[in-house]
Amino acid sequence: MIKVRLGSGLSSVVLMTLLATPVPAARAQQPAAQAAPPAESQLLQATDELVDATARLRGLQPKGPIKKGVKSREEITNYMTRKIDEEYSPERLRQEGRMLKRLGLLPENIDYRQLVVNLLTEQVQGLYDPEERVLFIASWLPMFDQDSVMVHEITHALQDQHFDLRAIFRANRASDNDDRTLAQQALFEGDGTVTALQYVIAPLKRHFSDLPDLAGVQELQMEMMQSQSPVLASMPQFLKATLVFPYGYGASFLQQVWKHDPSWAAVDKIYADLPASTEQIIHPEKYYAVRDDPKPVDASLSAAKLGDGWNIPYKTVLGEFMLRQLLGLHFGEERAKRAAAGWGGDQLLLLENGAGKTAIWLETEWDTAEDAEKFYAAMEEWLRLHRPKAERNATGADSFTLAHDGELDALLKSGTGVRVVIGIPEADAKAMQ
Ligand SMILES: [Zn+2]
Repeated sequence: MIKVRLGSGLSSVVLMTLLATPVPAARAQQPAAQAAPPAESQLLQATDELVDATARLRGLQPKGPIKKGVKSREEITNYMTRKIDEEYSPERLRQEGRMLKRLGLLPENIDYRQLVVNLLTEQVQGLYDPEERVLFIASWLPMFDQDSVMVHEITHALQDQHFDLRAIFRANRASDNDDRTLAQQALFEGDGTVTALQYVIAPLKRHFSDLPDLAGVQELQMEMMQSQSPVLASMPQFLKATLVFPYGYGASFLQQVWKHDPSWAAVDKIYADLPASTEQIIHPEKYYAVRDDPKPVDASLSAAKLGDGWNIPYKTVLGEFMLRQLLGLHFGEERAKRAAAGWGGDQLLLLENGAGKTAIWLETEWDTAEDAEKFYAAMEEWLRLHRPKAERNATGADSFTLAHDGELDALLKSGTGVRVVIGIPEADAKAMQ
């Protein structure tokens, strides 16, 4: 897996099979001329030596040889681009992009696939591909940058040998649940991140679980990375957040798990009982203490009221992390976090009618009626900010409608459920009751 992934709950792609590693800012600053890249044979030998060190550090012995190779930046870029095309059909990516645009998370005129390719390939410095079970080392990094990247990628290879990442990835790609995919990616990347960190800090007699919250550290690192990279700085905010989520929140999740039960055996057990949502990653006690599993939500039942004229080209689960990103389009971070807390489950449908018009139909479930009320109130304000020129229709306490350009956006609250509809033709308004 590449150590950088974007995983948007949204981007299944980002959550690709590639587990990549983002470039730490301090390293990105090193002038390339300072240290010549090492020879290929030197890199392969260094990797072999690090397999033993990583196995000892992580408590997972190799079950067989690890296939590996050294690749130039261009070769890795081509490899990743090919993997994106093989594992995510162009059509699925296109529909995912349409959904993101309809939600306002992506600008209308952007090529989503190209954006994902650019973001992934610009940041890559090492790669483990569980589909082909091969690890790639970057030929262009100076030797002093290689160790922790290699430890991270070797950790993925060991995870794969012991816990069959390939099977997990395949199941996720077939699942229509980008939230769960992102959560599981956070386990794999968090594990790689803390193991590589432990490799660096063990000689200093430190332990990763005693460091400050690694989610916060990762966010700071992203800010520094952006100052080095115009490509990264120009990316939509939600993509950047999704890119670092598995590393930062995944590592933070494992810090908490370790404090609760300080052993690698406790981490290994998670692979047999995988996290089911980003909510469990963000709030680890909802995984290991009082398990809070997502409620299954079927939005097609209510969307069927729109009649036969609509198809569903894309569906997914947004989850707490992506709802935060959505709310964050119009609110500050703290407000967005509060409004998305208490998430119980959701399903989002991208709808398309015969005229090629798209709309969003999202059913959300909340832990309590108070959580639902809080989300409803936030989304009401969010919609007003999202459509500053829209006309507000007559509404009750539990429903809200905005009309704009012949379309309607609507909210409906009922008990612990809140429906969010974006962009339905006004003529279909009655279906939203
Ligand atoms: Zn990784």
